[in-house]
Amino acid sequence: MSSQYDRPDKTVPGKWKKLRDLSMKSDNRICADCSAPDPKWVSANIGVFLCLKCSEVHRSLGVDTSKVLSLTLDEWSESDMESVIEVGGNSYANSIYEAFLPRNYPKPKPDSSEEDRTKFISSASTFGSKSTKKNVETRQFIGNLKVKVVRGSKLAVRDMLTSDPYVVLMLGQQQVYDHDVISADDIMGEAEIDLQAMITAALAFGDSDIPGNMQVGKWLKTSDNALVEDSLVNIVNGRIKQELHLKLQNVESGEMELELEWLPLDE
Ligand SMILES: [Zn+2]
Repeated sequence: MSSQYDRPDKTVPGKWKKLRDLSMKSDNRICADCSAPDPKWVSANIGVFLCLKCSEVHRSLGVDTSKVLSLTLDEWSESDMESVIEVGGNSYANSIYEAFLPRNYPKPKPDSSEEDRTKFISSASTFGSKSTKKNVETRQFIGNLKVKVVRGSKLAVRDMLTSDPYVVLMLGQQQVYDHDVISADDIMGEAEIDLQAMITAALAFGDSDIPGNMQVGKWLKTSDNALVEDSLVNIVNGRIKQELHLKLQNVESGEMELELEWLPLDE
């Protein structure tokens, strides 16, 4: 038996049949990105079924980001089939990669412009193509972030003499970005935190037992983020921690220092 099957209508046992069966499931009968009916294309590494228009956007991102194959025209390697079968198609892949988009991020529709389509697909697939393969670790990560407020300084005064600040952490519907709001009934500022560096470090080092201390990631200060200084992700005594020094936004003054710590599920 050859390891490559060139046509879906060729009667081949095993993996190709599994892939065809998968393509018949209801969630795979519409495009994973824009919900157009009857998708004929697949991103083999992300594991989703796509319409022609969305497949073209995926293809434009490069084969390392999304490896697009036709269900009817292309030759499929055994490993490409395995990859799709492993992910299981649209529902599961979307639940993972949309989890890393900001809340209410607009999903394209069948008649969306190429620009809207591209914006969504490139954002989602940047993380999704990695995370569908790492789905177990990704699930562990969500819900296991310990946040310690180290200190707030230069906070805005909201009551007559003092303020009584507290921190509200909103994790949206699972997303990369958090909003931290220091508030004393009146809002005393907010800051958006990008958890990408932390997630990447946790995926890479979360299961390892590194006893010493080392730097494993960094979120860089830029002119349009809330950082006062570069934020480092470090392994400290075997634990992954990130220190954040944030300038609060939408307020006249205020800074806040936070420490994030990633906790494995079994703790
Ligand atoms: Zn589509």
